[in-house]
Amino acid sequence: MSLLRFKMVDAAINHTALEVEVPAGRPSDYFGEKVFGRDAMRKYLNRATYDALIDTMENGTPLTRELADGIAAGMRQWALEHGADHYTHWFQPLTGGTAEKHDAFAEPDSCGGVLEEFSGKLLVQQEPDASSFPNGGIRNTFEARGYSAWDPASPAFIVDTTLCIPTVFIAYTGEALDYKAPLLRSLNAVDKAATEVCRYFDKNVQRVHAYLGWEQEYFLVDESLWAARPDLMLTGRTLMGHESAKNQQLEDHYFGAIPTRVISFMRELEYESLKLGIPVKTRHNEVAPNQFELAPVYEEANLANDHNQLLMTIMDKIARRHKFRVLLHEKPFKGINGSGKHNNWSLGTDTGVNLLGPGRTAAENLQFITFLVNVISAVHKHNGLLKAAIMSATNAHRLGANEAPPAIISTFLGKQVSAVLDKLAASKSDDAIRFDAKNVFKMSGISHIPTLLIDNTDRNRTSPFAFTGNRFELRAVGSSDNCAEAMIVLNTAVAAELRAFREAVDARIEAGAKKEKAIYEVLKEMIHASQPIRFDGNGYSEEWKAEAARRGLDCETSTPLIFDRYLDAEALEMFRTTEVLSPVEVEARTEVKWETYVKKIQIEGRVLGDLTMNHIVPVASRYEAMLLDKVYKMSQMRHLNLSASSDILLIRRIQEHTAEIQRLTDEMVEARKAANRIEEMRAKAIAYHDTVACTFDAIRYHVDKLEEIVDDQMWPLPKYRELLFLR
Ligand code: ADP
Ligand code: MG
Repeated sequence: MSLLRFKMVDAAINHTALEVEVPAGRPSDYFGEKVFGRDAMRKYLNRATYDALIDTMENGTPLTRELADGIAAGMRQWALEHGADHYTHWFQPLTGGTAEKHDAFAEPDSCGGVLEEFSGKLLVQQEPDASSFPNGGIRNTFEARGYSAWDPASPAFIVDTTLCIPTVFIAYTGEALDYKAPLLRSLNAVDKAATEVCRYFDKNVQRVHAYLGWEQEYFLVDESLWAARPDLMLTGRTLMGHESAKNQQLEDHYFGAIPTRVISFMRELEYESLKLGIPVKTRHNEVAPNQFELAPVYEEANLANDHNQLLMTIMDKIARRHKFRVLLHEKPFKGINGSGKHNNWSLGTDTGVNLLGPGRTAAENLQFITFLVNVISAVHKHNGLLKAAIMSATNAHRLGANEAPPAIISTFLGKQVSAVLDKLAASKSDDAIRFDAKNVFKMSGISHIPTLLIDNTDRNRTSPFAFTGNRFELRAVGSSDNCAEAMIVLNTAVAAELRAFREAVDARIEAGAKKEKAIYEVLKEMIHASQPIRFDGNGYSEEWKAEAARRGLDCETSTPLIFDRYLDAEALEMFRTTEVLSPVEVEARTEVKWETYVKKIQIEGRVLGDLTMNHIVPVASRYEAMLLDKVYKMSQMRHLNLSASSDILLIRRIQEHTAEIQRLTDEMVEARKAANRIEEMRAKAIAYHDTVACTFDAIRYHVDKLEEIVDDQMWPLPKYRELLFLR
């Protein structure tokens, strides 16, 4: 081991678990302590202001300037009493992270002192410079100015000493420049469309909420080792590194005992999360060494997404305190599992019914089947778009890589539900589904569907979009992604589908059909049409790829081309009619996707070039020189009769690998230069994909071969076996 590497490894071994001060009390004592939630509102706002704010939160009623001032005053008071000295609008630009610009509460009072100021105007709206954030050309087309506007549906919270106010971020001309604005619009669209459909079954339904329960996977690595890996530091993944002899093959990490240092980190993370109102619940080791998962209880999707964004930020901070770095990249290490973020999604009414959960009564079950079929049908129609929503330069390593969801979207329903749908599709018009106690269903009169129990142990881990008993689980989302992107597409597609469903059913009712019969008939057609998206087999198999292509599902694997699906006529129309995104917004956002792709690959290319030419080739050459020296000396001492043949073989191999590394690196640099000359962003992204990114693995192959040959004492980068086994 080189001295440098030894020092890093030594430091890593000597990092011990940090004592975490979690109060002895119960989580219920401190849950939400840093959130301006309903308890704090009740305490710090007067009755009329409180009622108005709740009305805004629940029904979107606009706030007057006076009320905003009243809320701001209460919020300021609460924040100051809880140690805050700054405030910020907290938003989610298209960079993928969160953005904040802190302002102090303290303002000069023109009498030589300062006063703590915070008006309703500052609470409601601010003007960050839009031109410094990705905007896909909207800034050029329109105006540079953007503004952030308060989202009262998501409560303000305090991080460190800053009051954070969740906001949307919009161009001055109204176009969304963030994830939250279209997420809110999509939630609104699905609420409207779903409520209308619910009214077939229950006239009391006023609102339908979408729920999201995310499961965040991540890796932890020791900070000292991380600091000695420029690739991890700058790209979030290892661009080289020979596999460790032992990695996940013994399957001894999943659900294994959590290392003490990691438990200590998790405890602090959970404590901080709970104070911020994030209802964290589950923690465990994941499949790969050093890989872990954290999941909260599901919440309304907008809030759940804010909580995921917030968690990713505080996770990073807390990890540093524990001398860890958290890796949210989808594929930090070759040869072992990558990280995803399962998005558990469902729809529920304000009357407390989960629309994706089987019910107790006949009507509830018909409602359940209705929503289930609409979701499947929506995902079928927009399977390519849904894939585009989860695709990125980093998630591309995971998709289709035989471990995570394949790069084809399909849905798994399980035996029971599949059988119900098949029976329904095959039924004569007067039949209906009926289940007996063992869930064997019989066909007869429409109004007798007893409780439908779904066996939720029937799981398929290879399905990217699986029905899991009372929700769908979208497994394709990347661990570093903002969940909103996938949720926007899913909510919007389902909204559009429900709307079309409602129109089709109404048309039949107007033509004289009975309501239930009309519903059955339309559902039957939809089940037939969406058959191709249903797949219960092994999503990783080669046969499935061929079969999916025959079924007409989107099988594209090139990331830049996958983004094209956003600009399909059907997609633009869907976003436009649901009022989630205008064509201008969709175009701008797609532009940002291509641009981000280009930049990520460009950075990886540069780092890889630096590493090979400044770290690897020089070290390999030094070792080669040592060997040459030895061979030369041997040749000078013929009388000893030593054989240099194996050394010469080694020299030849080093020669070959270093020569290939240099040749391929040159090629990659040339390809980058050529790609950089392309103006149009889509073409540039395609060039980066087809001519630059595709060289990385070839270069890496030779580097990893050298790692096996070159003297361990000289090797500059911490190896996988050192990075991956935290004690
Ligand atoms: P698993 O790993 O077995 O899929 P987890 O317990 O890790 O399950 O995570 C399941 C997630 O799904 C949790 O966040 C949970 O709250 C969420 N969830 C459960 N029911 C629903 C529902 N109806 N809608 C949305 N999310 C749900
Ligand atoms: Mg899960």
